[in-house]
Amino acid sequence: MIISVASGKGGTGKTLVATSLALSLKEKYRVQLLDCDVEEPNDHVFLKPVSTYKETASVMIPEVDDNKCNYCGRCGEVCAYNAIAVVKQKVLIFPDLCHGCGACSYLCPEKAISERANGIGVIEKGYADSIDFVQGRLAIGKAMAPPIIRRVKELVDNDRVAIVDASPGTSCPVIEAVRESDFCLLVSEPTPFGLNDLMLAVEAIRKLNIKCGVVLNRVGVGDSKTEEYCRRENIPIMLTIPLDTEIAYLYSRGITLAEGMPQWKNKFLELFDKILELTGDGN
Ligand code: SF4
Ligand code: SF4
Repeated sequence: MIISVASGKGGTGKTLVATSLALSLKEKYRVQLLDCDVEEPNDHVFLKPVSTYKETASVMIPEVDDNKCNYCGRCGEVCAYNAIAVVKQKVLIFPDLCHGCGACSYLCPEKAISERANGIGVIEKGYADSIDFVQGRLAIGKAMAPPIIRRVKELVDNDRVAIVDASPGTSCPVIEAVRESDFCLLVSEPTPFGLNDLMLAVEAIRKLNIKCGVVLNRVGVGDSKTEEYCRRENIPIMLTIPLDTEIAYLYSRGITLAEGMPQWKNKFLELFDKILELTGDGN
């Protein structure tokens, strides 16, 4: 089973939920945590995993042989990402826009394009106690998150409960992270901003046809409009976490809810039971 943890906006407590869920489930299940928030992966701060493996993540970008190229412009026409352009007698390549789809080299009539690896980040694997841990990290200045996320997700262990921590928002990296999950937990907070971004996230998740539920964090900080919205839209509120100085203090010290306040483990186990019910895996 794959559970993704996402949020319409940053700072809602997504990391707290993903790591606490992993640490609570590990008592009863084999668990894997995959940090796909590749621009700012920080699950490791809470889990402190032992690293066992590291690889460079790359995208295969085109390289043009000027001796073969006749500057016909075909490569620029077929590139959906504007990553290659032919200007007069020159082929310009923009590595940061290239998705490595290979269309330009495949369709070049002169076979003038070869490919070379362009490093965009790293994939790291390790373990924290019995939790299998994987994270992707985009290199500074690189813009291409989806290929790293795809590589992290290739490492999903189907014999474990896989928890995928997505980046905040609703852009391509989030879609890449949550697609193929059996259930998506949307972490939000009861404020006008939280509600606005939750609505966008729900729209995106529904388009992907993924069942979802909400974890409402910092309850007490705002109003009841988010709960009213969830009721209206028939979105289950799976767990509520109060606005609490002790939780904030633990978080500021890199301690998860499950470790700092062990009574929360049962609540996360109950949350998982609800997910099993909603996905039909609890029968
Ligand atoms: S498609 Fe091939 S031959 Fe045509 S401009 Fe591009 S690299 Fe050159
Ligand atoms: S590999 Fe794909 S994305 Fe990259 S330049 Fe070629 S066509 Fe464009």
